[in-house]
Amino acid sequence: MPELPEVETVVRTLRPRVVGRAVERVRLIRGDVVRGDRSAAGLLSGARLESIERHGKQLALVGSRGGERRVLVVHLGMSGQLVHAPDASACASLTHVHAMWTLRNDGGDRAGVMWFRDPRRFGGLWAVPSEGALRERWGLLGPDGLGVTGTELRERAGGSRRAVKGALLDQRVVAGVGNIYADEALFRAGVRPRRVCARLTGEEWETLAASIRGVLGRAIEMRGSTLRDYVSGTGEPGRAQLAHEVYGRAGEPCVACGGVLRGGVVAQRTTVWCGACQR
Ligand SMILES: [Zn+2]
Repeated sequence: MPELPEVETVVRTLRPRVVGRAVERVRLIRGDVVRGDRSAAGLLSGARLESIERHGKQLALVGSRGGERRVLVVHLGMSGQLVHAPDASACASLTHVHAMWTLRNDGGDRAGVMWFRDPRRFGGLWAVPSEGALRERWGLLGPDGLGVTGTELRERAGGSRRAVKGALLDQRVVAGVGNIYADEALFRAGVRPRRVCARLTGEEWETLAASIRGVLGRAIEMRGSTLRDYVSGTGEPGRAQLAHEVYGRAGEPCVACGGVLRGGVVAQRTTVWCGACQR
């Protein structure tokens, strides 16, 4: 947590509020959340925010300053939040706010503040020197889960002896899927999480890819899953947790067949599946 749908919701809610705005100043409250360049320029101080992008679970703020492009990558980790509000009073009572950007619009008027908050500190900020360096960094990841195809999954994991759930959690196979949506996609595809990758047919990889795209897309429509800390870029919780069919439901009835959902550990993660519907 958060996975692709949560990060995409943050991107979609922040985009109209921060793109085109200038960063008047950056306040770094906790320096060790920044990896690499901790300078004001690295944190986009004085830059105009040109775009906000996403690949998998990673988000990037792209700024321009004096003709140069600068990129700040944000990992939300377990509990990270990137939120915009009309003024700083909205976060005055919050703990664990590690960085804050004060924004202005083209006319020089105040355009609110954006802050990064992360109670558990598994997330962080990475200053990347150029858009080329961002492409290189993201090129190490697998295809984005929203567009992944069966052929891509099969090429990247089809020869492996590991459990298919472990492959889905591997960001080099498909970027953006974590524990929640891996279980949801495997259920929808009718594939058991412990199945050995090398035993899946081409047709099963296609069904699985379609299921991944489907569960991620539906979760974005419901603005992500809020189980604990996740909120959108405007500070609101999501509703996708209400639509989970297996995640967190071990021992409860299967929505498809009414049988009892099983729970266990697969790929070192708590996993839920239906022994009748998934083969
Ligand atoms: Zn079932």
